[in-house]
Amino acid sequence: MPLTKLRILTHRMTRAERRFSLRTLVVLSSLPLFGVVAAFGLAPDTNTFDSTPQTIVQAIVLPTMADAADTGTYQRESVVQAGDTLASTLSRLNVDALEIQRLLASEPVRKMASSIRAGKRILATTQDGQLQTLRFEQGDAPALTITRQDDGAYVADENPAVLETRVVMRSGRILSSLYGATDSAGIPDKIANQMAETFSTTLDFREDLRRGDTFSVIYTVDYRNGEPVAAGQLLAAEFVNAGKAHRAVLFRDASGATGYYTPEGESLKKGFLRSPLEFSRVTSSFTNSRKHPIYGFHRAHTGVDFGAPTGTRVKATGDATVVFAGRKGGYGNLLILRHSSGYETYYAHLSAFATGIRAGRPVNQGQVVAYVGSTGASTGPHLHYEVRIAGRPQNPMAIKLPGSPPLAVAQRARFLQQTAGWSDKLLLLRGTNLAALD
Ligand SMILES: [Zn+2]
Repeated sequence: MPLTKLRILTHRMTRAERRFSLRTLVVLSSLPLFGVVAAFGLAPDTNTFDSTPQTIVQAIVLPTMADAADTGTYQRESVVQAGDTLASTLSRLNVDALEIQRLLASEPVRKMASSIRAGKRILATTQDGQLQTLRFEQGDAPALTITRQDDGAYVADENPAVLETRVVMRSGRILSSLYGATDSAGIPDKIANQMAETFSTTLDFREDLRRGDTFSVIYTVDYRNGEPVAAGQLLAAEFVNAGKAHRAVLFRDASGATGYYTPEGESLKKGFLRSPLEFSRVTSSFTNSRKHPIYGFHRAHTGVDFGAPTGTRVKATGDATVVFAGRKGGYGNLLILRHSSGYETYYAHLSAFATGIRAGRPVNQGQVVAYVGSTGASTGPHLHYEVRIAGRPQNPMAIKLPGSPPLAVAQRARFLQQTAGWSDKLLLLRGTNLAALD
């Protein structure tokens, strides 16, 4: 039967082409449509850290016509072969015959049809089986994008979005608060928060911040058509607190896992956070906390008191299991967490517990577990925090906190190759930009 023959022929052709020229991409439908094919350029003098956005690109079996009605956003790409017409290329992209006719009847596509060249790529995006856009690569000229309008008509866009990721470096000096300084330096909140988070096992930003502290950050920014649209990821940071420099660089290991390390390769992820209180824009001022919290580490007082308004969020300082969450004498509302290696943390005088916090529940480091209050024997809103090791109270500000294992020797070369450039730039930033800001 001629029909069967034709089908077999088509099938063989598709398989052969697939081997050489056809790739089918599945992209997350929330991604900008042409994010995968846009150039993600770093300045040539930056190092080779891979800052390409996380995109899931997966080879899938070319769907049949019946599959084309599947939901979701698909991108298919085909390279124009010698002897191809626009119609033959489009049909290879699974655009159905009727749609091809409609496309070829539209002015921008007809113009395109005569100028396609072998070796150039055509990218089709379908949404729930309906063709949405076609992107034509054209020689040195910018790619042409044809987009389907709501009324079914196709319009050409000669200036499709150019997406790129750039590396930005900035420095600042603390005059009143962390966010005051990051605002003046033009650093997005997202990056300021990433910096505070990165150093949260080393520094207590609520209590340790000092006037004159300086910092530098290196981070990515996503650009669309030359305009910044979103802050990306912190690549490296330095925070000089009371004259002591703390540095962090982002490292992606061979398995793709990322983490922040000192330039010497020591992990910044530690068993415990420096502070159980959430650091936020509201609490970022250092002016009222020039002195450390009331230590009172004497017989009658086995912990540290952090003055903070009622309702301030309290975080678990390490991964743990809830041992107790309830009322207990002078402690008022008390939360006890059990960590590994015989560590326990106590959070007292709470106004409330976070949803789902009860005995037996696991909690993660940094998770909000409760809210500051003044219950029990308390004269005003504050958090009473204790660390106990094997049942004995320790001064949380003085104990050595367990850290993460250092970088494996095998990762060393990879680590240096990725991060040495950033470490150098942090040093340069400290020397130059700050002087200019003074
Ligand atoms: Zn206390």
